[in-house]
Amino acid sequence: MGLSSIRRPQREPVAAMILEEEIQAVSLAPLSLPLATPFEAVQLSTEQKQSRLQAMREKEVVPCTKCRLSQGRTQTVFGEGDVDAKIMFVGEGPGENEDLTGRPFVGRAGQLLDKMIVAMGLRREQVYIANIVKCRPPQNRVPAPDEVATCTPYLERQIEIIRPAVIVTLGRPAASYMLGNPKLTMGSVRGRWHEWRQIKLMPTFHPSYVLRTYTEAVRKAVWDDLKKVMEEVGK
Ligand code: URA
Ligand code: SF4
Repeated sequence: MGLSSIRRPQREPVAAMILEEEIQAVSLAPLSLPLATPFEAVQLSTEQKQSRLQAMREKEVVPCTKCRLSQGRTQTVFGEGDVDAKIMFVGEGPGENEDLTGRPFVGRAGQLLDKMIVAMGLRREQVYIANIVKCRPPQNRVPAPDEVATCTPYLERQIEIIRPAVIVTLGRPAASYMLGNPKLTMGSVRGRWHEWRQIKLMPTFHPSYVLRTYTEAVRKAVWDDLKKVMEEVGK
């Protein structure tokens, strides 16, 4: 009997599945790695993205009580949109309307965000929208650093799954967190390209700020920032 009759074992489908799970575990793991750490090279299909996001939402975020914001919420606000979106908007946290509906940016700020998206030649359903915390802070206060630290692994996993070409942060808390700089000012970061784990990131003003400070200068600044994003994604 020659060597040629010894068949190399085929990889069983089960083993292939386990390998896939391992790759997933690796791709979901680097939550505490430095900002410059690139993603693992695992590109998910639309269906895989949807099922992973749905599982995270239902099994982890909806029942989450990891921080004190769980106590005052009506419901969690996971985020929504096209899982294959090129552009992902990241806001601060749910307000009253979001807490009541379970959807991000549906109040007045949300209506302005919708207009911004339409002005970019897109529909809301074509982008992905999420927040740095998934539960409404009491009286809409800014989320505390420990709340942000506890909740943002969810956001980071959402970004890893979706892998947008561009992240647009809305307002200071989102920019601060994503750029890892608690002291930054909007004036110093907005309108310029930054990076989050090799994804281009554009900080701009929060639509609530635009509504509060409804000046020509602020509106022009936001529009300038969005035009840069449109150029980047080829719109
Ligand atoms: N403001 C935010 O930052 N996020 C929302 O979802 C709504 C308002
Ligand atoms: Fe959990 Fe985030 Fe809600 Fe805190 S804000 S309870 S970490 S989902």
